[in-house]
Amino acid sequence: MATRLVHPPKVTSDPYGAVAPPLYQTATFHQLSAVECGEYDYSRSGNPTRAQLEAQMAALEGADRALAFCSGMAALSAVLRLVASGEHVVAGDDLYGGTSRLLAQVAPGLGIEVANVDTADIEATRAALVPGRTKLLMLESPTNPRMQICDIAALSRVAHEAGALVVVDNSIMAPVFQQPLALGADISMTSATKFIGGHSDITGGTLSIRGRELAQRLSFVQNAEGAGLGPFDCWLALRGLKTMALRMERAAASAAALAAWLQAHPLVRRVNYPGLPGHAGAAVHATQASAGGSLLSFETGSVEASRVVVEETALFRVTVSFGSVTSLISLPCYMSHASIPAAMRAARGLPDDLVRISVGIEDPADLLADLDQAFRKAMAKVGMEASGVPPARPPASGREAELLARIALLEAQLHAQAA
Ligand SMILES: *Cc1c(COP(=O)(O)O)cnc(C)c1O
Repeated sequence: MATRLVHPPKVTSDPYGAVAPPLYQTATFHQLSAVECGEYDYSRSGNPTRAQLEAQMAALEGADRALAFCSGMAALSAVLRLVASGEHVVAGDDLYGGTSRLLAQVAPGLGIEVANVDTADIEATRAALVPGRTKLLMLESPTNPRMQICDIAALSRVAHEAGALVVVDNSIMAPVFQQPLALGADISMTSATKFIGGHSDITGGTLSIRGRELAQRLSFVQNAEGAGLGPFDCWLALRGLKTMALRMERAAASAAALAAWLQAHPLVRRVNYPGLPGHAGAAVHATQASAGGSLLSFETGSVEASRVVVEETALFRVTVSFGSVTSLISLPCYMSHASIPAAMRAARGLPDDLVRISVGIEDPADLLADLDQAFRKAMAKVGMEASGVPPARPPASGREAELLARIALLEAQLHAQAA
């Protein structure tokens, strides 16, 4: 994967042999003559820089074709166009906020009916599918911030039996750690705003599609509705792809080390990280993904303590989103998930003291030391002694962290085999 990210298939012809992909920052293309058209005419319909990004994504995911959109939500909206009025969508019940809003507030206006179900429960999902009427099963694994896992291969079989297409929102794992098409899905969506861009400087989204006819339908929507990604953002995404494996592996190794430290901390009641062997979905996750990723969440049992941890960290930026080189921290119930009513949040296992961390690529020793000093302040605030706190000496610099992450993964795989 790391090699393929750096050596993409070349789709543009370049007389100068530029090492970086050429940027075609143009809306229109000069045609061969009054009656003959060249390969490109108008950038909404197609642009060589976008074609380069799409070809690389298709190659990375083993897709027949990939399409790049101006955001992850634009990509998912295009997928929703596959569903006609009177038809039915089954989706997870712990989806990304923007996806929830699309399904709850846009789909009904299009005459599309949506059923939300716990997709970690295969039988419940099977029961929600209406053969002949359900056109789409929309999945996320892991979910965010609860990090729930669903079995993509098993759910794909169940959906296909009912005649539905399967789209997996793969933004959290990205093709580096998880390959939904290889697991049986029809469409894999990645928000390029996250790990592909990687530097919090673009919004974008890609669809990797299995099946030429399905790809053709989605390509028609991309052109007809005009939501394709612009050339410069495609160029930035292409640059981001080159370092994506390096960034994601580093961040995941650091996240595994932080998760282990948090789990041993006396102020932490619960850690949600699919790379921890005790996680409810760890066994399934280990069969379909190659790492735990760099997102985790935890509960302290005290909103006040959580608030102090979030506010007192110096290296973690208090913001939404993830997948950036910079570590981020937030209280989801007060930011990204504030629009969900409190009672529903509680029912969904989203307590107000939940802290979410997106681990960046900083030195893990610095991240741990920073969390440690923030936790000491939080403990003082809630009147707890810091004596039981595990030492903030991280085992985790570079190679060692990588090995620890590998061990955690192997342990999870052993659990999976035993189960
Ligand atoms: C960010 C995100 C999206 C939406 O992507 P945008 O690029 O912000 O439109 C969809 N799903 C998940 C899981 C995300 O994290």
